[in-house]
Amino acid sequence: MTPPEKDPPAQKRETIHQGHPPDPGKIRSKALLAAYMAKGREKLGTFLDAHGASLPVLGVAMEQFTQSVFALPEETACKQGCAYCCHLRVGVSIPEVLVVYRELAAQTTQEGFAFLKERVLGVAAKGNTLKDAFWHTTRSPCPFLDVDKNQLCLIYSLRPFACRAYHSTDLDACQKGYDLGQEIMIPCFPLYRATTDMYSSIFTRVLAEKGFPSYQVGFVKALEILFKDKRASGRWLDNREDVFVSAKLV
Ligand code: SF4
Repeated sequence: MTPPEKDPPAQKRETIHQGHPPDPGKIRSKALLAAYMAKGREKLGTFLDAHGASLPVLGVAMEQFTQSVFALPEETACKQGCAYCCHLRVGVSIPEVLVVYRELAAQTTQEGFAFLKERVLGVAAKGNTLKDAFWHTTRSPCPFLDVDKNQLCLIYSLRPFACRAYHSTDLDACQKGYDLGQEIMIPCFPLYRATTDMYSSIFTRVLAEKGFPSYQVGFVKALEILFKDKRASGRWLDNREDVFVSAKLV
């Protein structure tokens, strides 16, 4: 009797691996995403060339991109008042955080602004908000989550693209990740997530191409910088100073 073959030799494993047919669905999704991304980059680049990269112009660009985000698929498990994902690190582009800060200053009362500032600085003071581990271990809510009332986002219409992209088809998985204080795989609609997240990447890349010190930053850390230095926004936009380097995500 011939004993059953155990591990195939390396060369054979390679042959078996190469034998898998490529997933046509994945290939189409990748191609679609690349096409959307290229179109978005071109659109933003042309817009900034025509109008300059001022704060109001970035605000208009963010608004237009926001309107282009697809509707969240109905099959998601997300519902009002569920906020597990608002206890995770949020990565954003610098233009997003500049626009959010500007709108907070413009749309809130002096007291409201002071309240939000206190919330942001309060979370920032607890530890290194750039690390996933900070959010997992402290279980701190995002400073914009209305934990006292209804667990709703206080800046819902302004929220960054990462927040719009995050969703789940399995609420139990979200709760498990929160309870364990660990990053776990959350089932979702990958194409929805990627096409929503991409607007943040488009901002980061196009602004870098235009010569700005542009990279992904931690939302809370970048807001902390803005709240502590009123000139930070102008220094980045007008002088291209690298004022957000301590908020850079690696
Ligand atoms: S900005 Fe709003 S949606 Fe995003 S994490 Fe904070 S509370 Fe949640």
